[in-house]
Amino acid sequence: MSDLRNYKIDTPQYKFYKEMHEKVGLEYTMNMRKKYSKYDKCKMSIKKALSMMDDFIDPSDPDLDVPNSIHAYQTAERIRKKYPEDKELQIAGLIHDLGKVLFSYGEPSYCVVGDTYVVGCKYPDTIVYYETMKDNPDYNKYDDKCIYKEKCGLENLIITFGHDEYLYGVLKYNNNLHKMTDRTLNMIRYHSLYPWHTGGSYDDFMGAGDEHILKDVLEFNSFDLYSKEDPIEITQSVKDYYDKLLDEYFQGEMEW
Ligand code: FE
Ligand code: FE
Repeated sequence: MSDLRNYKIDTPQYKFYKEMHEKVGLEYTMNMRKKYSKYDKCKMSIKKALSMMDDFIDPSDPDLDVPNSIHAYQTAERIRKKYPEDKELQIAGLIHDLGKVLFSYGEPSYCVVGDTYVVGCKYPDTIVYYETMKDNPDYNKYDDKCIYKEKCGLENLIITFGHDEYLYGVLKYNNNLHKMTDRTLNMIRYHSLYPWHTGGSYDDFMGAGDEHILKDVLEFNSFDLYSKEDPIEITQSVKDYYDKLLDEYFQGEMEW
């Protein structure tokens, strides 16, 4: 695993995070939340969103240079290998990045992908490329007047908007059109919050039950990390398997 998530300076990833950190603070995040709180952007099935991933390559990820649809199937397949009976978890693997359809609305990369962080509180140095946070509009602003109370709970934190929060919101909003439970929805919601799940920051804000979410997200993350040494071939029969699973768990067109 040590050769993954290797972030060097003067790479496309550095430039990506530098721009993100310069722009995305509390106010920006609130505006994005508002912009995407109506679910009036389009109507489409989960399968349609999955097919759109054929065209997306994540610019923030130093380990991924294949279309996101391949990453989706590979994540699901890694889960199926370990948990052949847990269909919902396999689907979570398959769909976890579908919030990246934000790209198709013309959103810039830093509103769609990349590691997320909590806004409205002191920025921990576990944020990737932390040195670029000094140009953030909120740098130093919330060091002593953090907007959260201790143990307020993960769900009350305002986390930078991206594909995690967007898909979580879509699935919550269209709750009657699928059978996914809160357990897997939370894995989707927090999978990019690296300063928390891997960096160990934001501990003080965790509330009752959040430790279970952390455990789930950490395990989910182990399936999400791409490994070039372990390429999983996505055959037609693999695609057919997930096609049937999606029919079982989703119906109709959701509002996005
Ligand atoms: Fe992701
Ligand atoms: Fe992913």
